[in-house]
Amino acid sequence: NAKKPGIEFCFYSAQMNQKLQERTRLEFELWMALEREEFFLEYQPIMDARTGRIAAVEALVRWMSPEKGRVMPDSFIPLAEATGIIVPLGEWVLKTACTKLRQWLDAGCLPIRMSVNISGCHFMRSELCRMVEEAAEQTGVDLGLLELELTETCLVKDVEETAAKLWYLKGLNVSIGIDDFGTGYSSLQYLKNFPIDHLKIDRAFIKNVCELPDERAIVEAIIGIAKAMELHVIAEGVETLEQAQYLAHRGCDELQGYYYHRPLSEERLLEVLREERER
Ligand code: C2E
Ligand code: CA
Ligand code: CA
Ligand code: CA
Repeated sequence: NAKKPGIEFCFYSAQMNQKLQERTRLEFELWMALEREEFFLEYQPIMDARTGRIAAVEALVRWMSPEKGRVMPDSFIPLAEATGIIVPLGEWVLKTACTKLRQWLDAGCLPIRMSVNISGCHFMRSELCRMVEEAAEQTGVDLGLLELELTETCLVKDVEETAAKLWYLKGLNVSIGIDDFGTGYSSLQYLKNFPIDHLKIDRAFIKNVCELPDERAIVEAIIGIAKAMELHVIAEGVETLEQAQYLAHRGCDELQGYYYHRPLSEERLLEVLREERER
């Protein structure tokens, strides 16, 4: 039963070749999608745990592909990051989110914050600060309402440069949040050195928070850290009333998840905001 390495090699290389071709095609499609403006945003409300009102929305990107239909970010963000497409895409998301918020406020909507996801490689590689300033100049949006969600891993690469960028953003009045908190780097040192405003507990920990004591311990520890450091704490992936009540009771400031709202189209969000105002 001797192995036949030659055949195996052919098999793998054919498979790899196909993967590479798919990747190249998808990369091309993503550049085209930018050009043809096939990306669009949905907005998921983030609720104030005390008042039950919408405090913020998170902008989430989607791609309406002519061939594939609606494509979710998990299927294209990794490749966009690997190829650098994330930089122009991230700029488009940032500008679109700021433009929309400005339009909503002009139309009489009560002030809410706008949260935008920034990929680590985007944060590291490009002139993010200039991009933010430009977005503010072009849209006239109040940067005090803009919030950037960064991941832990993106903050630990070049500590000095990261600190400089974060302080600069802070100077622009932009809020900084740590996304997927608890899933990335284990050092908490950066919380002390960087001007962080909020922690967002990853939905992986929220999923079984009512059933599993270990998950509960982690969630409570994160809330404890946030409170001790006077950071705002947000839970994502809240799907049940039980989870919402538990998290609010434990001191989470804001709650986001399907229990309240799925990510919404702009039209639907404006309806929800209008209904809320009339209540
Ligand atoms: P994320 O930043 O952790 O965003 C939250 C994800 O959880 C969203 O998935 C949202 O639809 C989903 N979600 C919200 N509430 C619930 C819930 O109650 N239960 C469950 N099971 N899921 C919930 P989505 O929109 O597919 O986005 C996936 C990821 O793609 C995001 O994870 C984020 O990392 C990335 N992403 C999305 N938009 C952007 C963007 O504009 N720029 C960058 N760099 N990344 C983005
Ligand atoms: Ca996020
Ligand atoms: Ca994320
Ligand atoms: Ca997450």
